[in-house]
Amino acid sequence: MAAIGKSGVVGIVGAGTMGAGIAQLAAAAGHPVLLYDAWDGAAEKGRARIAKGLEGLVKRGRMTEAESAAIMARIAVVTNPEAFAGAALAIEAVVEDLEVKRKLFAQLEAVMGDDAILATNTSSISVTAIARDLRRPGRFAGMHFFNPAPVMKLVEVISGVATDAAVAATVFATAEAWGKVAVHAKSTPGFIVNRVARAYYAEALRLYEERVADPATLDALMTEGAGFRMGPFALMDLIGHDVNYAVSQSVFSAYYQEPRFRPSVVQLELVNAGRLGRKSGRGFFDYAEGAAQPVAVTETVETGAVPLEGAAADRVCDLPAVRIHPTDGRTARMLARDFARPVIVTDLTAGRGIATRVGFAASPDVPDRVVAEFVAAMGAQGLSATRLPDWPGLVAMRTLAMLANEGFEAVMQGVADETAVDAAMVNGVNYPRGPMGWARAIGLGRVLAVLDSLQALTGDPRYRASLALRLAVGD
Ligand code: NAD
Repeated sequence: MAAIGKSGVVGIVGAGTMGAGIAQLAAAAGHPVLLYDAWDGAAEKGRARIAKGLEGLVKRGRMTEAESAAIMARIAVVTNPEAFAGAALAIEAVVEDLEVKRKLFAQLEAVMGDDAILATNTSSISVTAIARDLRRPGRFAGMHFFNPAPVMKLVEVISGVATDAAVAATVFATAEAWGKVAVHAKSTPGFIVNRVARAYYAEALRLYEERVADPATLDALMTEGAGFRMGPFALMDLIGHDVNYAVSQSVFSAYYQEPRFRPSVVQLELVNAGRLGRKSGRGFFDYAEGAAQPVAVTETVETGAVPLEGAAADRVCDLPAVRIHPTDGRTARMLARDFARPVIVTDLTAGRGIATRVGFAASPDVPDRVVAEFVAAMGAQGLSATRLPDWPGLVAMRTLAMLANEGFEAVMQGVADETAVDAAMVNGVNYPRGPMGWARAIGLGRVLAVLDSLQALTGDPRYRASLALRLAVGD
């Protein structure tokens, strides 16, 4: 299916953060763009913000003056949605309110041609619900951009119950023609990204509640260890706890109190305290000028420990007194019993050359001297080591298992295919790898074992493995 032609007019409703970004993007792709906002002067302000942003790009040598001028020349402010009469595509980015959106699309449908496509940038409202009263709901789809729209690569193309496949395909091709990575998804709460990413925050909050480690240490295990760009606590502070807690509650209730999505009282208490994160100066971390920055807990090598060198350091499993085992959900104590020898269990990392930290736990019969040797061996490989309590699945592995499990569940329910889930997480929230591909690379059997162990030990149904994952392991 072809994209909307460059000469096709794109109308944008709502000239706020997202609308202005999408207008810039469409104009940069060559479309004449009409920008409309209900508030007096808001569309002009939006247009001026675009101009300022482009000016910055020109200053930094990322765009020529002529390119910037050409983009601006294609963006016209209009004061009435009736101006969209001849547009090929309308994209709505107004307040997140079902009734406001329904009313707006009724107005647009009345003036736009029958072949025009109507799209919403909603992040949390059912695309099916917005389209309900349209005369032709088949030409309606979600076009979910990420903030900032000109920069973030992903567009989730959302099909509601009534969306025509051809319309979704045209929206998909159009997003790609605008330089985006498009993925198809079915209209369901959170679509792909805002559903799968819940696990990133939820597991971090659970680990914190269980006092496995402090936020700075948990963040370091996810960034320096597993290669994520931001740790979950720094990210929640950036998003704002009011916003993140509200999204947690909305996804939890949209999935009928599914335990995987259960919000945390830790978030609630931060909101209660007004510690909303960076925007209020304090959340998990303190952003005041000169405030001490908490550092991750790292094992130091005791004097006298002999670091293994060269080839021996590459094969830490050679530590003779102890078996080193990557976590499969069993605790070190359980593994020591199963192997009848002392065990150090290691957390998931992003692998050689990327990871600079590794989490580990030791069974009680591992002597301190051997722990020190292990830490020294890790150091010789460029890895800081963080000792954790003897906890099932440790930190990064537990988080990845839950991300992948959510992905399997979404795929099973036909929300998206596996490739789309991975592309969405990599391009929408900058994950270092797609959780599905990552889970396959380390072995689905191991991921399943981690979930089964967590469920057995906690008794919490949030850790039940997706049927799709369990069946995939049987393959
Ligand atoms: P915003 O508050 O920055 O902008 C909304 C704009 O819509 C305002 O300028 C407002 O005047 C205008 N508006 C409100 N009602 C209108 C109406 N009836 N007709 C015309 N204009 C109207 O909001 P935003 O952050 O740009 O979000 C817009 C939409 O995009 C929401 O549905 C939101 O869920 C979604 N979204 C936001 C983000 C994000 O990170 N901000 C990301 C993806 C999707």
